[in-house]
Amino acid sequence: MDGYVHSIETMGTVDGPGLRYVVFTAGCPLRCKYCHNPDTWQIENGKKMSSEEIILDFEKYRSYLRSGGLTVSGGDPLVQIEFVTELFELAKERNVHTCLDTSGATFSQSGSRLEKFEKLMAVTDLVMLDIKHIDADGYKELTGGKLEETLSFLDFLEHKTNCEIWIRHVIVKGYTYKTKYLYKLGYHIGAYKKIKALDVLPYHDMAVNKYAELDLIYPLAGMEAMTKEQAKKARMIIEAGMRDRLLGKESQY
Ligand code: SF4
Repeated sequence: MDGYVHSIETMGTVDGPGLRYVVFTAGCPLRCKYCHNPDTWQIENGKKMSSEEIILDFEKYRSYLRSGGLTVSGGDPLVQIEFVTELFELAKERNVHTCLDTSGATFSQSGSRLEKFEKLMAVTDLVMLDIKHIDADGYKELTGGKLEETLSFLDFLEHKTNCEIWIRHVIVKGYTYKTKYLYKLGYHIGAYKKIKALDVLPYHDMAVNKYAELDLIYPLAGMEAMTKEQAKKARMIIEAGMRDRLLGKESQY
């Protein structure tokens, strides 16, 4: 089956455990204000490639990817769910570790869409779930999408699949970098046993030039970049929320 691929990285170090072959698919339903890959938004901007073609290319690098595996990122891979499922099925036939990097947008708890998710998760080892904001209005404002879809997807992963979950969260001043929201995020995810890692990333403005090249207005123009120290501080607040949840304490917010 053919899919639309934005790009491929053969030695990814931040997209799952070990060294990874990373396929960035084209197409994304969100419009995050801090998106650093606006060139992945439109599916038709991707290059048509078949799942067989990709897995054969993966095999060329396999010897040094042994500690890692195959990751599909985006855009958002769930836009092309059938294609990703087929690619992961081919990977699992070869005993390759599979990781999906997604926001969970487009998740549905019913009908044929749910069946598609069940089929994909049966061949997915790890989901890196990007929770972009823990407040529904804040989520809408920051991404244009619905928080509900991300959180229902998290529930589905916890209760209906065998996937491991890693959480990703980007801190942005005036949006997500607030004690209340960080704590609430921690308190929410503290209830999920399949979550094995938390990655808190500082917002950066390195995509400004890309927007200019694409003739797009950069929504966060003038916004200062966040530091690693601020990400560390945010992480501590998230962890405090997680701890309170684990200890059965009332939420502070
Ligand atoms: S989900 Fe990712 S690719 Fe899509 S708009 Fe947000 S940051 Fe960009």
